[in-house]
Amino acid sequence: MPSDPKFAKIRAVLDARRSQHLYRRTLLADSPQQPHMTINGQAMLTFCSNDYLGLANHPDVIRAFQQAANTYGVGSGAAHLVNGHSRPHQQLEEALAAFTGRDSALLFSTGYMANLGVANALLTSRHDVIYQDRLNHASLVDAGLLSGAKRVRYAHNDTTQLQVRLQAQTDPSVTQLIVTDGVFSMDGDVAPVTDLARVAQAHQAWLMVDDAHGFGVLGKTGAGLLEAHGLDQDSVPILMATLGKALGTAGAFVAGSRDLIEYLKQSARTWIYTTAQPPAVAAATLASLQLLETESWRREHLHDLIQQFRHGAAQLGLPLMPSDTAIQPLLIGSSEQTLALSQQLAQRGLLVTAIRPPTVPANTARLRITLSAAHSTADVERLLDALQQIHPTVPTTP
Ligand code: PMP
Repeated sequence: MPSDPKFAKIRAVLDARRSQHLYRRTLLADSPQQPHMTINGQAMLTFCSNDYLGLANHPDVIRAFQQAANTYGVGSGAAHLVNGHSRPHQQLEEALAAFTGRDSALLFSTGYMANLGVANALLTSRHDVIYQDRLNHASLVDAGLLSGAKRVRYAHNDTTQLQVRLQAQTDPSVTQLIVTDGVFSMDGDVAPVTDLARVAQAHQAWLMVDDAHGFGVLGKTGAGLLEAHGLDQDSVPILMATLGKALGTAGAFVAGSRDLIEYLKQSARTWIYTTAQPPAVAAATLASLQLLETESWRREHLHDLIQQFRHGAAQLGLPLMPSDTAIQPLLIGSSEQTLALSQQLAQRGLLVTAIRPPTVPANTARLRITLSAAHSTADVERLLDALQQIHPTVPTTP
């Protein structure tokens, strides 16, 4: 009904988004997840995937998926606590616990659900407090909202401000949970995890690190940011990481002490009341984890590409952000300009996503470039050449 006011309201929102250059659209891929893809019918070299190690399309991973589908079928059929928990799930949980050096691990169907589930399980009273870095991922922000606890934010990576906020809380019966991205998803910089662990311990607060973008990429064996800083489960009791990024599959896990994981099984509603991920996804992830452990060249090559890109971009005077991870955004500022740059790159056959508010704060729109071990040095050279060509419209300050 054209005059129906409820439709007029949502149309007004859509119109405003278009006029502010904030309208979002999906692309259509007709090829597997890899740097050279067919997108919207065109050959594109992509720099926006989170498939950091190039495992999403690995033959061993595909084979494991197919074999498990032959054995277990496609759907898990039920939640883990009913009869949906199959042997591949169990094997993957045990492997993830061993790999991260934690007692136990629990699989969730997505990272979003893992974050919601943990916060909701641990924060049981509206007097409990959740402390959030201002740049935390949307799923952590929503985890705070859903928990119903008091929400307190601190400036990005500012442990001194966090400490001041914690000191304001004097009631010992209150449960406190500090949550942070490990690698910040839109910035690529990392949380000061050693300091955070010290502050959390001094205040008997839980600390949860969402290492979605560090797991598989950072640390000597690829176990992530906490491994890189030598932080075990006594220092950081809750580790969350996703499987849809460096491992190239889908889902997420939480790793920690036996008691923590048992507690989550009793209380995490996004684990209890949802269908377990397909067993074939767990089997594929197990194959992927084995590749992560045995093929350290993937991580080494990725780190070489990161250096190559940063060196080349610095020489071109591009607005790099302080990141040593696979996420290498170029800070542009205006949404309109970021979108225009993304379109100019697309005209040259390169796909780099324009990230705009509300995903990032106002006036900090950026080109979010992500690198993968599946890229070649020639791919990165091509990106740098294209950036050089469109360079005149990239300002050096936001
Ligand atoms: N945490 C962070 C930091 C993320 O970047 C993402 C996904 N982009 C998630 C959680 C959610 O993970 P999933 O995609 O598995 O829901």
